[in-house]
Amino acid sequence: MTDLDSFITGLPKAELHLHIEGSLEPELMFELAKRNGIDIPYASVEDVRAAYAFSNLQDFLDIYYAGANVLRTRQDFHDLAAAYFDRIAADGVVHAEIMFDPQTHTDRGIPFADVIEGLLSGMAEAEAKHGITSKLILSFLRHLSEEAAFDTLAMAEPWLDQIEAVGLDSSEVGHPPVKFAQVFEAAHAKGLKITAHAGEEGPPEYVYQALDLLHVDRIDHGNRSLEDPDLVARLAAMGMTLTVCPLSNLKLCVVDDLADHPVDRMLALGLKATVNSDDPAYFGGYIGDNFRAVAKARGLDREAIVTLARNSFTGSFLPPKAIAEHLEKLDAYVEAQG
Ligand SMILES: [Zn+2]
Repeated sequence: MTDLDSFITGLPKAELHLHIEGSLEPELMFELAKRNGIDIPYASVEDVRAAYAFSNLQDFLDIYYAGANVLRTRQDFHDLAAAYFDRIAADGVVHAEIMFDPQTHTDRGIPFADVIEGLLSGMAEAEAKHGITSKLILSFLRHLSEEAAFDTLAMAEPWLDQIEAVGLDSSEVGHPPVKFAQVFEAAHAKGLKITAHAGEEGPPEYVYQALDLLHVDRIDHGNRSLEDPDLVARLAAMGMTLTVCPLSNLKLCVVDDLADHPVDRMLALGLKATVNSDDPAYFGGYIGDNFRAVAKARGLDREAIVTLARNSFTGSFLPPKAIAEHLEKLDAYVEAQG
């Protein structure tokens, strides 16, 4: 491990773009399949890993939904979350805002209560065990209807005080933010914060819609904003946080080579970029791997890396006092490292 790699590992950071279902490692997939008596179309852990050679968002989503099928009980969701937090504890993560896709489970007949209670218990365990705080983001699947999203929001009603925000994920192209304008308005009226995936595969127009129609507090990905200088200027002026995911971008061919990744160009343009893992079990690495890989590929210096970590706190949904405390610890770490 280089000096820069160990600096990254120890650097306090938050993760803001993580789909908990996307942290399902092949080993846990096998364990849960066995525990729940479910046949999966793979003979071994190696077979699953080999199947992860997808090259676009839709091919990835097909295997992702197949994998999620092994998640059945409250204990399964607890174990899924616990495994994720154990991983990121080793990456210097002190706070995580994690997305979950209720529709992936409720559409299979899994009660919403089992999904969320399992995740919440995994989150509570992580705080006790590792001191990692976390928040939940309920994401709507955009390939489904707005009516289905309204149904999901209604199911979430008893837990709204434990859900921080709503998000929008799954197949982007052909499912623009405008399709969900009303359900996001309803979520906002219930006091929830708003994020949306926009500008990953979709055009800058989708980012404009996320801003103007969904009134997002944060943009997930946002890469294609770079195609529109007016949009870049607007995002920079607003201080809008972009939750960027380098290894995901590489695996889903949003960039052809990590050496071409725009994260430092985003910073140079005044955009508030952060580094995140998206679906770490499927994309080849957790948040520490993302930082190390993009730092190496782009030759990032310590200053850029610290800025990315700083942005992860200021872009979080934590209250100002907690953000200030995290930034103090970050500064103390950087100073101690010389
Ligand atoms: Zn994502």
